Amino acid sequence: MDEKHLSQRLVTVANFVPIGARLADIGSDHAYLPAALALRKQISYAVAGEVAPGPYNNMVREIASHSLTETIKPRLADGLAAIEPSDRINTVVIAGMGGILITKILTTGQARLAGVRRLVLQPNVGAPRLRQWLMRHRYQIMAERILAEDDHIYEVIMAEPSIVPFRYSDYELTFGPLLLEKKGPVFAAKWHEYYHRQMEVIHQMKQAQKVPVKRIQELNAKLAMVKEALENDNGE
Ligand code: SAM
Repeated sequence: MDEKHLSQRLVTVANFVPIGARLADIGSDHAYLPAALALRKQISYAVAGEVAPGPYNNMVREIASHSLTETIKPRLADGLAAIEPSDRINTVVIAGMGGILITKILTTGQARLAGVRRLVLQPNVGAPRLRQWLMRHRYQIMAERILAEDDHIYEVIMAEPSIVPFRYSDYELTFGPLLLEKKGPVFAAKWHEYYHRQMEVIHQMKQAQKVPVKRIQELNAKLAMVKEALENDNGE
């Protein structure tokens, strides 16, 4: 992967960045995403944030090698601390991290989200927790995608601030309110795999000397939900 050949995962993220956006890509690593968007003039300005010096140095090189130093500002900073008010950022991408880390970054840097009109989030795991954070902080989930690449299944969530509070049920938080509307083969593959893995976990638990009855009940309840989500989905 490089700035000219983004992974399908990052293409999916990039498609949610509005034309002319002022973007902050937090945890940008090589800055491939902002570089690709700047080269095709999809964004007018970007901050590429990195907490680790190694990736930060990669970003600095990448940005300079494409003469993008006017458009993309590399910043060595923890989370949203990379954003300064004068950047006038309106779109934030946080991709390729766990959902818990993404929620931590959003919580810690909440004050910096004041002028931000769109969040594009790609949790590697832990999407339900992230959806819960969005709900509690008055963001509406506007679009969701699920895709498979290199033996992984990824979810991408695009959310925007909302004046009215949004309520999502546990069922919607787990599977994604908008993914539930479409489902499809990748959705089915993800939850079939989860179902069979957890059935095996339950089987193992039942062999234990002290059977964790409560934990098994919880897992069974979750699996009933998974079954429901998979019902009426022909995987097409
Ligand atoms: N966003 C890119 C992508 O999706 O391909 C890179 C993902 S990479 C797996 C995660 C990056 O996030 C790492 O380079 C890591 O140093 C950075 N990171 C982790 N925690 C961070 C934080 N609190 N603030 C900024 N960057 C962070």
